[in-house]
Amino acid sequence: MIRDREADVELNDIRHRLDEVDTALVHVLAERQRLVQEVGQWKADGGGPLRDPHREEDVLTRVVERSREAGLDPFFVTRLFREILGQSLRTQVASLGPGRAQDGAVIRVGYQGTEGAYSDLAARRHFGPGGAETSYRGCETFQEMLEDVRRGELDYAVLPIENTTSGSVTAAYDLLSQMDLALVGEEVVEVDHCLLALEDVPISRIRRVYSHPVALSQCGRFLNSLRDCHVEAFTDTAMAARRIRDEQDLSQAAIASEEAARLYGLAILKRGVQDQPENYTRMVIVAREPAVFDRAIPCKTSLMFATRHEEGALLRCLSVLADHHLSMTKLESRPRPRNPWEYLFYVDFEGNLADPDVSEAVRALAARASFLRVFGSFPARTVVETSQVGPRPAVSAPSRRAVGPPSQRPPVVLEKKAYTLASRAHRPEDTVIRVGGVSVGGPRPIVIAGPCSVESREQIRSCARIVKELGGHVLRGGCFKPRTSPYAFQGLGYEALDLLAEAGAEFGLPVITEVMHPADVGPVAEKAQFLQIGARNMQNFSLLKEVGKVDRPVMIKRGLMSSIDEWLGAAEYVLAQGNQMVVLCERGIRTFETATRNTLDLGAVPVVKELSHLPIVVDPSHAVGVSRWVPPLAEAAIACGAHGLMIEIHPDPARALSDGQQSLTFEMFEALMARIGSDSRQ
Ligand code: PEP
Ligand code: MN
Repeated sequence: MIRDREADVELNDIRHRLDEVDTALVHVLAERQRLVQEVGQWKADGGGPLRDPHREEDVLTRVVERSREAGLDPFFVTRLFREILGQSLRTQVASLGPGRAQDGAVIRVGYQGTEGAYSDLAARRHFGPGGAETSYRGCETFQEMLEDVRRGELDYAVLPIENTTSGSVTAAYDLLSQMDLALVGEEVVEVDHCLLALEDVPISRIRRVYSHPVALSQCGRFLNSLRDCHVEAFTDTAMAARRIRDEQDLSQAAIASEEAARLYGLAILKRGVQDQPENYTRMVIVAREPAVFDRAIPCKTSLMFATRHEEGALLRCLSVLADHHLSMTKLESRPRPRNPWEYLFYVDFEGNLADPDVSEAVRALAARASFLRVFGSFPARTVVETSQVGPRPAVSAPSRRAVGPPSQRPPVVLEKKAYTLASRAHRPEDTVIRVGGVSVGGPRPIVIAGPCSVESREQIRSCARIVKELGGHVLRGGCFKPRTSPYAFQGLGYEALDLLAEAGAEFGLPVITEVMHPADVGPVAEKAQFLQIGARNMQNFSLLKEVGKVDRPVMIKRGLMSSIDEWLGAAEYVLAQGNQMVVLCERGIRTFETATRNTLDLGAVPVVKELSHLPIVVDPSHAVGVSRWVPPLAEAAIACGAHGLMIEIHPDPARALSDGQQSLTFEMFEALMARIGSDSRQ
């Protein structure tokens, strides 16, 4: 009895000393953090790059030596110090990065799952060191979470993008391509799965295990070793842990994190039950707008592109990175929506868009791709050391100058022109654009034909049939009509779009239609393979920016009173947003002449072909406005090198709801196609 009391006193004494050691550790860590902040300030004032991998390796080597001398497990100490060094970097980035919230405002961060899920851990880890007040919210699905960011209900979302065991999270990639969002950070969490139960029971007593399907797939070997045990997929790991607590059944267990065990008061039966001990998940931080990071912060840049339809297209795009000595850290391909057997490529590489060399590389990549979207630059959490080949750009003095991604920056002005990406200097080769199975911009001119407006199913079907029969390539039809008078027929809107898409699909023709409002761009792009910007909207800059963000070819008609330079400036708006699939359309300009509706400026064809790499087609219908004058001008357009024609046709022009006087009857169209047919057969 007395001995027991003595033992108790001794144990209490040891525990007391342990508490003192822990307190000392915390104080030492706080002192370390103060020093780290001092170093951060020094770096911010131009003292060098924020991350110095050599310095980190030196620190680790030294602590490993010390820990050996002190009789500690070097692996344990290395792990601990990697965590400490990671936290130091986060602290410095938080003090140097862009302000995350207005003074006093709470930062709202979303993650998928419930409290204690790995995404929640990543969120707290990422936003914790910033010092600002932060609220965290679990969301049911990725989609719901990202929509909340888009609507401004969340400031940031934490989206898992890849795992070192189970690979890429394809659903996350697909959502990024569909939503116009930016990436402003990344976080890596070590996924160390634990088997959790209500109490510390023997594992052999467990009859049912719940977890997220991905977590279950990462623990296949362990789960197979359990006898008489049923494995069940559950919405998320933390939710599975909560269920164990709620159901109070000693035969049930969950696979989740150690934090989930703490949160729900569960016992850990076994740690590290995943098949691969090194199991990490990389999460990206999604925001509405891209952020600008100081060049002292080692960053990654993330983007997505589609290739042109030509041999070696992917290689040509990726070689831009090699040419600029930029090291790629991730390459992923996903099916390109609405384009079967075509792919979107997602690339991450080490580099910061604030560095002119990096933004130059992105511009060069845009010239080789058919569609490019830059998600943004953000501080890198994973750095793979590469053996350097060739010269690497010298680390230049850090700058605090705000530089946006290329799409948001004014283009470099060449000879005071409004455009650079549209110029021949930027891309010496002709751009050939694929629309459905048709090539625009190659040696064979294409014929786009159809009614001014879609009026009925029968009307658009009959036009589609004749276009197909006569060897035309694209079916046109207006759904939203820009009319001079608000009382004139305005088009049948989305009903017409359905009829147009239906007719195009039935006769195997891609369809083009005009989009007039930025809000209509997404929905119209779902149904039409080719988008048209009408002459009246050529300088509607918000509309141009919107079509620049969708993965669809765009035809820009020349404004009624626009010079060629202004027209190429309009094309530049689309290209600068990332969409490289722009076709120009000459449709007549306004002059003193009133005998024709407008004056067809055929001189624009050779001029544009010299100034720009973009294809140019000619619309003689809107230019002359009288059907019998259309065929000779159509032939002239082909003769002077146009890449195609846009012709209005109607089964009964006298009854057309718009532009009947300039619409060719089917007979006239047939005669025209007979004259130009051999030129335009693809
Ligand atoms: C059209 O093509 O339907 C049209 C309205 O043309 P534009 O914008 O050239 O007047
Ligand atoms: Mn018309």
